[in-house]
Amino acid sequence: MPVNINRLEEAAVELNRRAAVATPLDARRAHKAAADRETNKLAKYVLNSIVDNSELAVVEERPMCGDTGVPRYYVKAGNDVQIEGGFAALEHALRRALATATHDVKLRSNRVHPLTRRNPGNNVGVFAPNIDYRFEPEGDWIDITAVHKGGLFGSDYRMLFPGDGIPGIKRFVVDTIASFHRRGMACPPAIVGVGIGGTKDQSFSLSKEAACLRLVGDRHPDPAVAQLEDELLELCNSTQMGVMGLKSDTPVIDVHCEIAYAHTGGTPVGVSELCTAVRRCTMRLYNDGRLEFREDPLWFNDYMRREGVEWELSSWTQSAAAGPLEVN
Ligand code: SF4
Repeated sequence: MPVNINRLEEAAVELNRRAAVATPLDARRAHKAAADRETNKLAKYVLNSIVDNSELAVVEERPMCGDTGVPRYYVKAGNDVQIEGGFAALEHALRRALATATHDVKLRSNRVHPLTRRNPGNNVGVFAPNIDYRFEPEGDWIDITAVHKGGLFGSDYRMLFPGDGIPGIKRFVVDTIASFHRRGMACPPAIVGVGIGGTKDQSFSLSKEAACLRLVGDRHPDPAVAQLEDELLELCNSTQMGVMGLKSDTPVIDVHCEIAYAHTGGTPVGVSELCTAVRRCTMRLYNDGRLEFREDPLWFNDYMRREGVEWELSSWTQSAAAGPLEVN
């Protein structure tokens, strides 16, 4: 039986409500730990206010920040899922759900026409909300993650030379963090996502996914990447440019890196920061009608990060042996 589209739309409204109101446990714990170890009195006071504010938002059932960010969806489809009306119906449902949530949850209508600044009042417009897709080779379900990304600032992109190496990547990341944090922008303590390699656009999308779709404390399965994550975390925090531009021991609560194979002549690097308002929630709908909500997006999987190709040299040599392609 396919996933019922009306049920999906209703669930997506609830998904947006949860994302806007409840800071996920991993981020709440990290904010509390940052407040506890903070040695600057004023920064400690502000970090404790962030912790209190998260709790109050849940009690009062209201968004945890007045700026409710830019809502978007990440969709991961199991290969065996069926959706009533197909993927076009899914997109209609997700757009309607966001318009309803903007009204009912009182999300700020942040999306406007970029030239006229016309505001439709519902966060829905041209290419808005973003809906990104990935797949899982097995599974009779669809995962939908709502992210209400805050922070217009704190992100940057640069094409590095291969010779810049890992030291060059570190320098660019720390320069980016320092340049935004010293002005009090990006609302730290942040989760930093770094996309390394791939194409230019890929490096930037990966940086955003790394910031928004992995739990605090998660480490990349490639040991070299995981080591870089640890080193960048230490380096970013050594800037001491933290909450509200104050001197702080924890400007960032974690750094997540994702890699993609790059052109041999360059290393594109994207940096994205997820501000203190960590707003993400995931739901899974199964073909049989089950619905589950969870805090871990479980976004990156082995399938996405796979190496190599399901291809054997013999199949190529056989077709080549069949002779040249015919062109009519
Ligand atoms: S950057 Fe984040 S915490 Fe700061 S105002 Fe925007 S949504 Fe709120």
